[in-house]
Amino acid sequence: MFSLFNFLFDLFQSLYGMIKYFPADDIRQRIEQLIGILDMGHIDMDRITCVRSRGSSSRRIVARCHALPKIMQHALQRDAHYVIEVISERFDRLSDDVQVKTLIHELLHIPKSFGGGFRHHDYVCSRNVENMYRLYVNYPNINVREICKQQAVI
Ligand SMILES: [Zn+2]
Repeated sequence: MFSLFNFLFDLFQSLYGMIKYFPADDIRQRIEQLIGILDMGHIDMDRITCVRSRGSSSRRIVARCHALPKIMQHALQRDAHYVIEVISERFDRLSDDVQVKTLIHELLHIPKSFGGGFRHHDYVCSRNVENMYRLYVNYPNINVREICKQQAVI
């Protein structure tokens, strides 16, 4: 979406380096769908927050995955929590397929242990992202069809 307001907002943000965060329910819904389709049951959506940011000074980053580190979990007596951030100025302009690949990339950074650490780019590589993406575009697969059927019955 483009508007004069957005244009001026972006200009202001980039001039003054102020980053603002907004809830991203659309990203959350897409991630929920991806997790179902790609069998990523280790990702606990109760401990995932999706955020859209505007005004990031980083020029190349499209999305980021953040975690509450182990020391902070201990200090705050909290379980691990992850944040998927999309940088509006760049992410929102991407084509649908690249957006999906970007979200898959960020989700792959979350390890099976869901402990507050990250999987690195030896695993989170374009080959694994492409493999996952192929699974996604071949939706509906058997598992997903079963899930949808169950939901339809309810
Ligand atoms: Zn990455």
